[in-house]
Amino acid sequence: MVESAARNLVCRNCGTPVPLRPQHACFECFGPLEVGYDTEALARVTRAEIEAGPHNIWRYAPLLPVGQDPATRVTLDPGMTPLVRADALADAIGLRAPLWVKDDSANPTHSFKDRVVSTALTAARGFGFTRFACASTGNLANSVAAHAARAGVPSMVFIPYDLEAGKVLTTAVYGGDVVAIEGSYDDVNRLCSELTETDEFEKTAFVNVNLRPFYAEGSKTLGYEVAEQLGWRLPAQVVIPMASGELLTKVDKAFAELVEIGLVPASDYRVFGAQSRGCNPIATALWNDSEDIVPVKPTGIAKSLNIGDPAAGRYALESVRRTGGWMEDADDEEIREGIQLLAATTGIFAETAGGVTVAVLRKLIASGRLDPDAETVLYSTGEGLKTLDAVEGRVGPTHRIKPSLRAAREAGLVE
Ligand SMILES: *Cc1c(COP(=O)(O)O)cnc(C)c1O
Ligand SMILES: [Zn+2]
Repeated sequence: MVESAARNLVCRNCGTPVPLRPQHACFECFGPLEVGYDTEALARVTRAEIEAGPHNIWRYAPLLPVGQDPATRVTLDPGMTPLVRADALADAIGLRAPLWVKDDSANPTHSFKDRVVSTALTAARGFGFTRFACASTGNLANSVAAHAARAGVPSMVFIPYDLEAGKVLTTAVYGGDVVAIEGSYDDVNRLCSELTETDEFEKTAFVNVNLRPFYAEGSKTLGYEVAEQLGWRLPAQVVIPMASGELLTKVDKAFAELVEIGLVPASDYRVFGAQSRGCNPIATALWNDSEDIVPVKPTGIAKSLNIGDPAAGRYALESVRRTGGWMEDADDEEIREGIQLLAATTGIFAETAGGVTVAVLRKLIASGRLDPDAETVLYSTGEGLKTLDAVEGRVGPTHRIKPSLRAAREAGLVE
């Protein structure tokens, strides 16, 4: 059996190492733990080995802490989603260099969360957990419930009670337990942390709580894939939506790893973060030149991004500052416009998080923070069909006529 290159968990705060096990906080300082690798083992991975792998995230298994043996995987085989050249969108927003949209709605449950769930649940099964769970803003619950159904393992997902119907139904259909909490995501997350400490939940894997270090690694595949799809090189600029901020930090980690192990040439890249006006604690800290992320009570339509107390916020700030990027926010009206602009110029119908990211890219160009002459990748992480409310009343039939040529003529459709 091929061994993983992962060696331990390491505290992101104080550097204390911990064995690979289901633990997410450092016993020394309560800082978050992250998977650490044997860099020499990683450096033996070749492009050819990856290219010969399956057409999904598992082609990057040698760079992940789990799943080296296909038989151990708990997965819907997400990944290798389209990287779409978006010239018309670039023209519309004043970008003169190539613009790409990474369309991660093209995953089995239609968001990037399938990547992190496949990684976390593969780890969870290896550790002997017998039930799968999560604290979710919607897409994560959808993915955990679907993975559990495929694996034949019971699931219990926890969500705020006021999520979009499209997120609740696409989760509940898989038949697991769905617990709607009368509170915000941050309340849900706190409760889930408490539940992990109880006897009843001892054998329950909360993908983003006790399995969080393994969960987070799955996000790296969104960095690897873009680099491979560009012909094994890094883009100059990336724009990424932020909830906990984890995805942004892991795309950065993936780019740095690829350079370190020699799979792509070293090149400068800048990381940009997108939040909504109703939940912008990470962006606010950046604007205030502060290290402290002040939690907020989220509002607004971008519910998948509504984490008021973002676990990886500090590290997202660090990535953006180190690479010379920036963060912006978008209000609900701008989010709706962003969804429509992306759809009309690329044929991609994104959820509200995609609207946030498009609107933020537009602002970054207008303010001069993002270089309009440098190649840019925009991450669109979820599917518009799950957040139909965002465009309801704004789009619909452009004509309604009787089924006759005369009616078509009267409506101006023919001479
Ligand atoms: C969860 C989510 C994100 C952000 O994820 P974090 O890693 O928590 O920052 C972005 N987009 C969508 C659609 C999501 O569901
Ligand atoms: Zn620590």
